[in-house]
Amino acid sequence: MTLRFDNSYARLPGRFYARQAPAPVPVATLVALNDDLARRLGADPEALRSPDSVAWLAGNGLPDGAEPLAQAYAGHQFGGWVPQLGDGRAVLLGEVIAPDGARFDLQLKGAGQTPYSRQGDGRAWLGPVLREYVVSEAMAALGVPTTRALAAVTTGDTIWRDGQRRPGAVLARVAASHIRVGTFQYFAARRDMEGLQLLVDHVITRHHPQADGAAGLLDAVVAAQARLIAQWMALGFIHGVMNTDNMTVSGETIDYGPCAFMDAFHPDTVYSSIDRQGRYAWSNQPQIAAWNLAQLAMCLIPVMGEEAVAIEAATASVHRFKDLYEAEWLKRFGAKIGLASPTAADLPLIEGLLSEMTRQGADFTNSFRGLIDDTARGNFADPSGFDAWATGWRARLEAEADPQTVMRAANPAYIPRNHQVEAMIEAAVAGDLAPFHRLNAVLARPYHIRRGAEDLALPPRPDQVVQATFCGT
Ligand code: AMP
Ligand code: MG
Repeated sequence: MTLRFDNSYARLPGRFYARQAPAPVPVATLVALNDDLARRLGADPEALRSPDSVAWLAGNGLPDGAEPLAQAYAGHQFGGWVPQLGDGRAVLLGEVIAPDGARFDLQLKGAGQTPYSRQGDGRAWLGPVLREYVVSEAMAALGVPTTRALAAVTTGDTIWRDGQRRPGAVLARVAASHIRVGTFQYFAARRDMEGLQLLVDHVITRHHPQADGAAGLLDAVVAAQARLIAQWMALGFIHGVMNTDNMTVSGETIDYGPCAFMDAFHPDTVYSSIDRQGRYAWSNQPQIAAWNLAQLAMCLIPVMGEEAVAIEAATASVHRFKDLYEAEWLKRFGAKIGLASPTAADLPLIEGLLSEMTRQGADFTNSFRGLIDDTARGNFADPSGFDAWATGWRARLEAEADPQTVMRAANPAYIPRNHQVEAMIEAAVAGDLAPFHRLNAVLARPYHIRRGAEDLALPPRPDQVVQATFCGT
Protein backbone atom coordinates (compact mmCIF):
# COMPACT_ATOMS: atom_id res chain seq x y z
CA MET A 1 0.00 0.00 0.00
CA THR A 2 1.77 3.12 -1.21
CA LEU A 3 0.27 6.53 -1.83
CA ARG A 4 -1.22 6.94 -5.29
CA PHE A 5 -0.69 10.46 -6.66
CA ASP A 6 -2.64 12.28 -9.36
CA ASN A 7 -1.62 15.93 -9.37
CA SER A 8 -4.35 17.96 -11.03
CA TYR A 9 -3.18 21.30 -9.60
CA ALA A 10 0.30 20.73 -11.08
CA ARG A 11 -1.38 20.40 -14.50
CA LEU A 12 -2.75 23.95 -14.26
CA PRO A 13 -0.64 26.65 -15.98
CA GLY A 14 2.71 27.54 -14.47
CA ARG A 15 1.55 30.91 -13.16
CA PHE A 16 -0.60 29.12 -10.54
CA TYR A 17 2.47 28.05 -8.56
CA ALA A 18 6.23 27.77 -8.37
CA ARG A 19 7.75 24.32 -8.75
CA GLN A 20 9.56 23.86 -5.47
CA ALA A 21 11.09 20.82 -3.78
CA PRO A 22 11.15 20.72 0.02
CA ALA A 23 14.47 21.80 1.54
CA PRO A 24 16.58 18.93 2.93
CA VAL A 25 16.95 18.74 6.72
CA PRO A 26 19.77 17.38 8.93
CA VAL A 27 18.03 14.57 10.87
CA ALA A 28 14.46 13.45 10.23
CA THR A 29 12.80 11.94 13.30
CA LEU A 30 9.19 10.83 13.42
CA VAL A 31 7.26 12.39 16.30
CA ALA A 32 3.74 11.28 15.44
CA LEU A 33 1.94 9.39 12.72
CA ASN A 34 -1.82 9.30 12.26
CA ASP A 35 -2.51 5.62 11.55
CA ASP A 36 -6.22 6.05 10.80
CA LEU A 37 -5.61 8.88 8.37
CA ALA A 38 -2.76 6.94 6.71
CA ARG A 39 -5.15 4.05 6.09
CA ARG A 40 -7.82 6.47 4.86
CA LEU A 41 -5.34 7.61 2.22
CA GLY A 42 -4.55 4.04 1.24
CA ALA A 43 -1.13 3.88 2.89
CA ASP A 44 0.22 1.26 5.27
CA PRO A 45 1.06 3.05 8.54
CA GLU A 46 4.04 0.77 9.11
CA ALA A 47 5.41 1.66 5.69
CA LEU A 48 5.07 5.35 6.56
CA ARG A 49 7.18 4.70 9.66
CA SER A 50 10.07 3.34 7.59
CA PRO A 51 13.23 5.48 7.40
CA ASP A 52 12.60 6.22 3.71
CA SER A 53 9.11 7.56 4.42
CA VAL A 54 10.17 9.52 7.51
CA ALA A 55 12.87 11.09 5.32
CA TRP A 56 10.39 12.46 2.77
CA LEU A 57 7.92 13.46 5.49
CA ALA A 58 10.69 15.80 6.69
CA GLY A 59 11.65 17.02 3.21
CA ASN A 60 14.54 14.69 2.38
CA GLY A 61 13.62 13.20 -0.97
CA LEU A 62 10.14 12.67 -2.36
CA PRO A 63 7.58 9.87 -2.45
CA ASP A 64 6.98 8.34 -5.88
CA GLY A 65 4.48 10.37 -7.85
CA ALA A 66 4.95 13.66 -5.98
CA GLU A 67 5.32 16.88 -8.03
CA PRO A 68 6.16 19.44 -5.35
CA LEU A 69 5.09 23.05 -5.73
CA ALA A 70 4.33 26.19 -3.75
CA GLN A 71 0.88 27.63 -4.52
CA ALA A 72 0.44 31.29 -5.41
CA TYR A 73 -2.25 33.30 -3.65
CA ALA A 74 -3.02 36.80 -2.42
CA GLY A 75 -5.21 37.98 0.41
CA HIS A 76 -6.53 40.53 2.84
CA GLN A 77 -4.62 40.26 6.11
CA PHE A 78 -6.48 41.99 8.94
CA GLY A 79 -8.39 43.83 6.23
CA GLY A 80 -5.28 45.09 4.42
CA TRP A 81 -4.73 44.01 0.83
CA VAL A 82 -1.57 42.00 0.04
CA PRO A 83 -1.36 41.29 -3.71
CA GLN A 84 1.13 38.47 -3.36
CA LEU A 85 1.34 35.92 -0.55
CA GLY A 86 1.61 32.25 -1.55
CA ASP A 87 3.03 29.22 0.25
CA GLY A 88 6.02 30.75 1.98
CA ARG A 89 6.83 27.73 4.08
CA ALA A 90 4.71 24.96 2.70
CA VAL A 91 5.13 22.67 -0.26
CA LEU A 92 2.29 20.75 -1.87
CA LEU A 93 3.66 17.28 -2.63
CA GLY A 94 0.63 16.49 -4.74
CA GLU A 95 -2.84 14.95 -4.58
CA VAL A 96 -3.34 11.49 -3.18
CA ILE A 97 -6.18 9.37 -4.54
CA ALA A 98 -7.63 7.27 -1.71
CA PRO A 99 -8.82 3.70 -2.34
CA ASP A 100 -12.43 4.98 -2.59
CA GLY A 101 -11.39 7.56 -5.19
CA ALA A 102 -11.45 10.60 -2.87
CA ARG A 103 -8.78 13.20 -3.64
CA PHE A 104 -6.63 14.78 -0.92
CA ASP A 105 -3.86 17.38 -0.99
CA LEU A 106 -0.74 16.26 0.81
CA GLN A 107 1.31 19.25 1.94
CA LEU A 108 4.46 19.64 4.02
CA LYS A 109 4.25 22.71 6.25
CA GLY A 110 7.63 24.01 7.39
CA ALA A 111 9.38 22.57 4.31
CA GLY A 112 11.75 25.48 3.69
CA GLN A 113 11.85 28.67 1.68
CA THR A 114 9.95 29.18 -1.57
CA PRO A 115 9.70 32.11 -3.99
CA TYR A 116 6.84 33.34 -1.75
CA SER A 117 8.76 33.36 1.55
CA ARG A 118 9.36 37.13 1.62
CA GLN A 119 11.33 37.72 4.87
CA GLY A 120 10.46 34.32 6.39
CA ASP A 121 12.73 31.35 6.99
CA GLY A 122 10.26 28.86 5.51
CA ARG A 123 10.34 26.83 8.68
CA ALA A 124 8.05 25.77 11.49
CA TRP A 125 8.93 24.69 15.00
CA LEU A 126 7.68 21.80 17.07
CA GLY A 127 5.25 23.81 19.22
CA PRO A 128 2.94 25.12 16.49
CA VAL A 129 3.28 21.85 14.56
CA LEU A 130 1.98 19.86 17.52
CA ARG A 131 -0.69 22.48 18.26
CA GLU A 132 -2.01 22.18 14.71
CA TYR A 133 -1.78 18.38 14.91
CA VAL A 134 -3.82 18.18 18.13
CA VAL A 135 -6.35 20.90 17.34
CA SER A 136 -7.02 19.88 13.73
CA GLU A 137 -7.47 16.23 14.71
CA ALA A 138 -9.75 17.27 17.58
CA MET A 139 -11.82 19.36 15.17
CA ALA A 140 -12.18 16.36 12.87
CA ALA A 141 -13.31 14.19 15.79
CA LEU A 142 -15.75 16.92 16.86
CA GLY A 143 -17.31 16.63 13.40
CA VAL A 144 -16.03 19.93 11.97
CA PRO A 145 -14.69 20.04 8.39
CA THR A 146 -10.96 20.62 8.67
CA THR A 147 -7.53 19.93 7.28
CA ARG A 148 -5.98 16.90 8.96
CA ALA A 149 -2.58 15.98 10.38
CA LEU A 150 -0.90 12.91 8.88
CA ALA A 151 2.48 13.20 10.58
CA ALA A 152 4.80 15.41 12.58
CA VAL A 153 8.57 15.10 12.30
CA THR A 154 11.46 16.99 13.78
CA THR A 155 14.21 18.11 11.43
CA GLY A 156 17.29 18.33 13.64
CA ASP A 157 17.48 22.02 12.74
CA THR A 158 17.40 24.81 15.25
CA ILE A 159 15.23 27.74 14.31
CA TRP A 160 14.79 31.08 16.00
CA ARG A 161 11.48 32.41 17.22
CA ASP A 162 10.96 35.37 19.54
CA GLY A 163 14.68 35.34 20.36
CA GLN A 164 14.65 31.70 21.42
CA ARG A 165 16.17 28.53 19.94
CA ARG A 166 13.45 26.11 18.92
CA PRO A 167 13.45 22.59 17.49
CA GLY A 168 12.52 22.64 13.79
CA ALA A 169 9.60 20.47 12.69
CA VAL A 170 7.44 19.68 9.69
CA LEU A 171 3.73 18.91 9.65
CA ALA A 172 2.38 16.65 6.92
CA ARG A 173 -1.07 18.12 6.31
CA VAL A 174 -3.96 16.60 4.41
CA ALA A 175 -6.80 18.68 2.97
CA ALA A 176 -9.61 18.46 0.45
CA SER A 177 -7.50 21.19 -1.15
CA HIS A 178 -5.54 24.24 -0.06
CA ILE A 179 -7.39 26.58 -2.45
CA ARG A 180 -8.42 29.75 -0.64
CA VAL A 181 -10.46 32.87 -1.21
CA GLY A 182 -7.02 34.42 -1.64
CA THR A 183 -6.28 32.10 -4.57
CA PHE A 184 -9.19 33.69 -6.45
CA GLN A 185 -8.05 37.14 -5.37
CA TYR A 186 -4.61 36.47 -6.84
CA PHE A 187 -5.99 36.01 -10.36
CA ALA A 188 -8.78 38.59 -10.11
CA ALA A 189 -6.34 41.30 -8.98
CA ARG A 190 -4.18 40.56 -12.01
CA ARG A 191 -7.24 40.67 -14.29
CA ASP A 192 -6.18 37.20 -15.44
CA MET A 193 -9.60 36.09 -16.65
CA GLU A 194 -8.29 32.92 -18.24
CA GLY A 195 -6.61 31.90 -14.98
CA LEU A 196 -9.71 32.78 -13.02
CA GLN A 197 -11.93 30.65 -15.26
CA LEU A 198 -9.51 27.71 -15.01
CA LEU A 199 -9.57 28.06 -11.22
CA VAL A 200 -13.38 28.18 -11.16
CA ASP A 201 -13.56 25.00 -13.27
CA HIS A 202 -10.92 23.27 -11.13
CA VAL A 203 -12.70 24.10 -7.87
CA ILE A 204 -16.13 23.11 -9.18
CA THR A 205 -14.77 19.74 -10.28
CA ARG A 206 -13.00 19.13 -7.00
CA HIS A 207 -15.34 20.53 -4.38
CA HIS A 208 -18.71 21.59 -5.68
CA PRO A 209 -19.53 19.37 -8.68
CA GLN A 210 -23.22 20.25 -8.47
CA ALA A 211 -22.48 23.98 -8.88
CA ASP A 212 -23.56 25.60 -12.13
CA GLY A 213 -20.75 27.94 -13.17
CA ALA A 214 -19.14 30.71 -11.13
CA ALA A 215 -22.48 31.87 -9.65
CA GLY A 216 -23.28 28.35 -8.48
CA LEU A 217 -19.77 28.03 -7.08
CA LEU A 218 -20.21 31.21 -5.04
CA ASP A 219 -23.52 29.89 -3.66
CA ALA A 220 -21.85 26.62 -2.69
CA VAL A 221 -18.92 28.29 -0.93
CA VAL A 222 -21.29 30.64 0.93
CA ALA A 223 -23.34 27.66 2.14
CA ALA A 224 -20.26 25.64 3.14
CA GLN A 225 -18.81 28.56 5.10
CA ALA A 226 -22.14 29.31 6.82
CA ARG A 227 -22.22 25.71 8.08
CA LEU A 228 -18.58 25.81 9.10
CA ILE A 229 -18.69 29.07 11.04
CA ALA A 230 -21.85 27.97 12.88
CA GLN A 231 -19.98 24.84 13.96
CA TRP A 232 -17.05 26.91 15.22
CA MET A 233 -19.42 29.13 17.17
CA ALA A 234 -21.22 26.18 18.76
CA LEU A 235 -17.91 24.85 20.07
CA GLY A 236 -16.59 28.18 21.33
CA PHE A 237 -13.82 28.01 18.75
CA ILE A 238 -11.92 31.15 17.79
CA HIS A 239 -9.85 30.82 14.63
CA GLY A 240 -7.79 33.91 15.32
CA VAL A 241 -6.58 34.78 11.78
CA MET A 242 -9.58 34.76 9.45
CA ASN A 243 -7.70 36.48 6.67
CA THR A 244 -8.97 35.73 3.17
CA ASP A 245 -5.87 33.62 2.54
CA ASN A 246 -6.87 31.45 5.52
CA MET A 247 -10.40 30.70 4.28
CA THR A 248 -10.80 27.66 2.06
CA VAL A 249 -13.33 27.31 -0.74
CA SER A 250 -13.87 23.67 0.23
CA GLY A 251 -15.38 24.75 3.57
CA GLU A 252 -12.64 23.18 5.67
CA THR A 253 -11.02 24.93 8.62
CA ILE A 254 -7.41 25.76 7.78
CA ASP A 255 -4.30 27.27 9.40
CA TYR A 256 -4.41 26.75 13.12
CA GLY A 257 -2.24 29.60 14.33
CA PRO A 258 -3.33 31.66 17.31
CA CYS A 259 -6.57 29.71 17.55
CA ALA A 260 -8.22 28.54 20.76
CA PHE A 261 -11.39 27.22 22.28
CA MET A 262 -12.92 29.48 24.88
CA ASP A 263 -12.91 28.49 28.53
CA ALA A 264 -14.73 31.33 30.34
CA PHE A 265 -17.39 32.58 27.96
CA HIS A 266 -17.43 36.09 26.64
CA PRO A 267 -18.50 36.93 23.08
CA ASP A 268 -15.68 39.45 22.63
CA THR A 269 -12.93 36.96 23.39
CA VAL A 270 -9.77 37.24 21.27
CA TYR A 271 -6.61 35.18 21.71
CA SER A 272 -4.23 36.43 19.08
CA SER A 273 -1.78 38.90 20.53
CA ILE A 274 -1.63 40.75 17.20
CA ASP A 275 -5.42 41.18 16.90
CA ARG A 276 -5.62 44.34 18.98
CA GLN A 277 -8.88 45.56 17.44
CA GLY A 278 -10.69 42.31 18.11
CA ARG A 279 -11.34 41.90 14.40
CA TYR A 280 -11.39 38.13 14.78
CA ALA A 281 -13.19 37.92 18.14
CA TRP A 282 -15.58 34.97 18.61
CA SER A 283 -18.70 37.06 18.04
CA ASN A 284 -17.22 38.75 14.98
CA GLN A 285 -16.49 35.55 13.07
CA PRO A 286 -19.76 35.39 11.08
CA GLN A 287 -19.42 39.03 9.95
CA ILE A 288 -15.81 38.43 8.94
CA ALA A 289 -16.77 35.30 7.03
CA ALA A 290 -19.40 37.32 5.16
CA TRP A 291 -16.81 40.03 4.45
CA ASN A 292 -14.38 37.42 3.10
CA LEU A 293 -17.14 35.91 0.96
CA ALA A 294 -17.90 39.37 -0.42
CA GLN A 295 -14.25 39.50 -1.54
CA LEU A 296 -14.73 36.16 -3.27
CA ALA A 297 -17.91 37.46 -4.90
CA MET A 298 -16.06 40.49 -6.28
CA CYS A 299 -13.46 38.16 -7.80
CA LEU A 300 -16.11 36.02 -9.46
CA ILE A 301 -18.29 38.79 -10.95
CA PRO A 302 -16.09 39.13 -14.06
CA VAL A 303 -16.63 35.44 -14.90
CA MET A 304 -20.35 35.40 -14.03
CA GLY A 305 -21.62 36.77 -17.33
CA GLU A 306 -23.34 40.07 -18.08
CA GLU A 307 -22.12 42.56 -15.49
CA ALA A 308 -25.35 44.02 -14.08
CA VAL A 309 -26.88 40.56 -13.75
CA ALA A 310 -23.67 39.21 -12.25
CA ILE A 311 -23.46 41.96 -9.63
CA GLU A 312 -27.04 41.32 -8.60
CA ALA A 313 -26.54 37.56 -8.38
CA ALA A 314 -23.27 37.89 -6.45
CA THR A 315 -24.83 40.35 -4.00
CA ALA A 316 -27.82 38.08 -3.42
CA SER A 317 -25.51 35.12 -2.89
CA VAL A 318 -23.43 36.89 -0.22
CA HIS A 319 -26.59 38.19 1.46
CA ARG A 320 -27.86 34.61 1.77
CA PHE A 321 -24.96 33.93 4.15
CA LYS A 322 -26.86 35.59 7.01
CA ASP A 323 -29.97 33.42 6.72
CA LEU A 324 -28.00 30.22 6.13
CA TYR A 325 -25.72 30.97 9.06
CA GLU A 326 -28.57 31.87 11.40
CA ALA A 327 -30.43 28.67 10.50
CA GLU A 328 -27.30 26.61 11.22
CA TRP A 329 -26.66 28.54 14.42
CA LEU A 330 -30.20 27.90 15.67
CA LYS A 331 -29.97 24.20 14.83
CA ARG A 332 -26.66 23.79 16.63
CA PHE A 333 -27.35 25.92 19.71
CA GLY A 334 -30.84 24.44 19.94
CA ALA A 335 -29.28 20.96 20.03
CA LYS A 336 -26.88 22.14 22.75
CA ILE A 337 -29.84 22.74 25.06
CA GLY A 338 -31.63 19.56 23.96
CA LEU A 339 -33.99 20.81 21.25
CA ALA A 340 -34.23 18.49 18.24
CA SER A 341 -36.08 21.00 16.02
CA PRO A 342 -35.60 24.48 17.44
CA THR A 343 -37.53 27.40 15.97
CA ALA A 344 -37.14 31.16 16.17
CA ALA A 345 -39.40 31.06 19.23
CA ASP A 346 -36.57 29.26 21.06
CA LEU A 347 -34.03 32.03 20.43
CA PRO A 348 -34.73 33.90 23.68
CA LEU A 349 -34.14 30.71 25.66
CA ILE A 350 -30.78 30.09 23.98
CA GLU A 351 -29.78 33.76 24.26
CA GLY A 352 -30.85 33.76 27.89
CA LEU A 353 -28.33 31.09 28.79
CA LEU A 354 -25.58 32.75 26.77
CA SER A 355 -26.12 36.10 28.46
CA GLU A 356 -26.05 34.53 31.91
CA MET A 357 -22.85 32.71 30.94
CA THR A 358 -21.39 36.00 29.71
CA ARG A 359 -22.35 37.81 32.89
CA GLN A 360 -20.58 35.22 35.01
CA GLY A 361 -17.77 34.13 32.72
CA ALA A 362 -19.03 30.56 32.95
CA ASP A 363 -17.02 27.84 31.22
CA PHE A 364 -18.45 27.46 27.71
CA THR A 365 -17.94 23.72 27.24
CA ASN A 366 -18.85 22.59 30.73
CA SER A 367 -21.91 24.82 31.07
CA PHE A 368 -23.48 23.08 28.08
CA ARG A 369 -22.14 19.60 28.82
CA GLY A 370 -23.38 19.96 32.39
CA LEU A 371 -26.95 20.34 31.17
CA ILE A 372 -26.89 16.59 30.51
CA ASP A 373 -26.20 15.54 34.10
CA ASP A 374 -27.42 18.57 36.09
CA THR A 375 -23.91 19.82 36.86
CA ALA A 376 -24.21 22.96 34.73
CA ARG A 377 -25.08 25.26 37.63
CA GLY A 378 -21.69 24.55 39.23
CA ASN A 379 -20.12 26.63 36.46
CA PHE A 380 -21.85 29.78 37.73
CA ALA A 381 -20.33 31.56 40.74
CA ASP A 382 -23.81 32.87 41.54
CA PRO A 383 -26.22 30.21 40.29
CA SER A 384 -29.44 32.15 40.90
CA GLY A 385 -29.64 33.49 37.34
CA PHE A 386 -28.93 30.04 35.95
CA ASP A 387 -31.59 28.48 38.19
CA ALA A 388 -34.18 30.94 36.96
CA TRP A 389 -33.21 30.15 33.36
CA ALA A 390 -33.32 26.39 34.02
CA THR A 391 -36.94 26.58 35.20
CA GLY A 392 -38.04 27.85 31.80
CA TRP A 393 -35.71 25.44 30.05
CA ARG A 394 -37.13 22.39 31.84
CA ALA A 395 -40.63 23.47 30.92
CA ARG A 396 -39.58 23.71 27.27
CA LEU A 397 -37.93 20.27 27.38
CA GLU A 398 -41.26 18.65 28.19
CA ALA A 399 -42.09 18.95 24.50
CA GLU A 400 -38.91 17.03 23.54
CA ALA A 401 -38.72 13.27 22.98
CA ASP A 402 -35.07 12.62 23.88
CA PRO A 403 -33.18 15.77 24.84
CA GLN A 404 -30.38 13.82 26.54
CA THR A 405 -29.35 12.13 23.30
CA VAL A 406 -29.55 15.41 21.40
CA MET A 407 -27.34 17.17 23.96
CA ARG A 408 -24.85 14.31 24.16
CA ALA A 409 -24.20 14.61 20.43
CA ALA A 410 -23.91 18.42 20.50
CA ASN A 411 -21.90 19.08 23.66
CA PRO A 412 -18.40 17.63 23.86
CA ALA A 413 -16.91 16.71 27.21
CA TYR A 414 -13.42 17.45 25.91
CA ILE A 415 -12.02 20.22 23.76
CA PRO A 416 -8.34 21.04 23.25
CA ARG A 417 -8.11 23.52 26.08
CA ASN A 418 -5.49 26.16 25.52
CA HIS A 419 -3.65 25.62 28.80
CA GLN A 420 -3.42 21.88 28.15
CA VAL A 421 -2.15 22.46 24.62
CA GLU A 422 0.50 24.84 25.98
CA ALA A 423 1.53 22.33 28.68
CA MET A 424 1.68 19.59 26.02
CA ILE A 425 4.02 21.74 23.90
CA GLU A 426 6.25 22.52 26.86
CA ALA A 427 6.53 18.81 27.69
CA ALA A 428 7.19 17.85 24.05
CA VAL A 429 10.00 20.38 23.72
CA ALA A 430 11.52 18.85 26.87
CA GLY A 431 11.33 15.43 25.20
CA ASP A 432 8.15 14.11 26.85
CA LEU A 433 5.51 13.20 24.27
CA ALA A 434 3.17 11.48 26.74
CA PRO A 435 0.86 14.53 27.14
CA PHE A 436 0.66 14.84 23.32
CA HIS A 437 -0.40 11.22 22.88
CA ARG A 438 -2.81 11.41 25.82
CA LEU A 439 -4.49 14.56 24.49
CA ASN A 440 -4.86 12.97 21.06
CA ALA A 441 -6.32 9.78 22.47
CA VAL A 442 -8.94 11.54 24.60
CA LEU A 443 -9.82 14.10 21.92
CA ALA A 444 -10.34 11.35 19.37
CA ARG A 445 -13.69 10.68 21.13
CA PRO A 446 -14.61 14.10 22.48
CA TYR A 447 -18.26 13.33 23.23
CA HIS A 448 -17.35 10.23 25.25
CA ILE A 449 -16.46 10.45 28.95
CA ARG A 450 -13.23 8.63 29.63
CA ARG A 451 -12.34 7.48 33.13
CA GLY A 452 -9.01 8.91 34.23
CA ALA A 453 -9.28 11.94 31.95
CA GLU A 454 -11.22 14.14 34.38
CA ASP A 455 -8.38 16.70 34.47
CA LEU A 456 -8.73 17.26 30.71
CA ALA A 457 -12.31 18.43 31.20
CA LEU A 458 -11.34 21.09 33.73
CA PRO A 459 -11.07 24.78 32.90
CA PRO A 460 -7.74 26.39 33.75
CA ARG A 461 -7.02 27.63 37.25
CA PRO A 462 -6.30 31.38 37.26
CA ASP A 463 -2.55 30.69 37.18
CA GLN A 464 -2.98 28.32 34.20
CA VAL A 465 -4.82 30.75 31.95
CA VAL A 466 -2.89 31.36 28.74
CA GLN A 467 -3.05 35.09 28.16
CA ALA A 468 -2.34 35.22 24.43
CA THR A 469 -1.49 32.80 21.68
CA PHE A 470 1.28 34.32 19.63
CA CYS A 471 1.51 34.38 15.89
CA GLY A 472 5.22 33.55 16.09
CA THR A 473 4.69 30.24 14.41
P1 AMP B 1 -0.19 32.43 7.98
O1 AMP B 1 -0.38 33.57 8.94
O2 AMP B 1 0.49 31.23 8.58
O3 AMP B 1 -1.45 32.06 7.28
O4 AMP B 1 0.85 32.95 6.89
C1 AMP B 1 0.63 34.10 6.10
C2 AMP B 1 1.68 34.17 5.01
O5 AMP B 1 3.00 34.24 5.56
C3 AMP B 1 1.70 32.96 4.07
O6 AMP B 1 2.06 33.41 2.79
C4 AMP B 1 2.78 32.11 4.67
O7 AMP B 1 3.33 31.21 3.75
C5 AMP B 1 3.80 33.14 5.11
N1 AMP B 1 4.65 32.68 6.21
C6 AMP B 1 4.30 32.47 7.50
N2 AMP B 1 5.34 32.06 8.22
C7 AMP B 1 6.39 31.97 7.38
C8 AMP B 1 7.78 31.59 7.52
N3 AMP B 1 8.28 31.23 8.69
N4 AMP B 1 8.55 31.64 6.41
C9 AMP B 1 8.05 32.03 5.23
N5 AMP B 1 6.80 32.39 5.03
C10 AMP B 1 5.95 32.38 6.09
MG1 MG C 1 -2.16 30.92 5.99
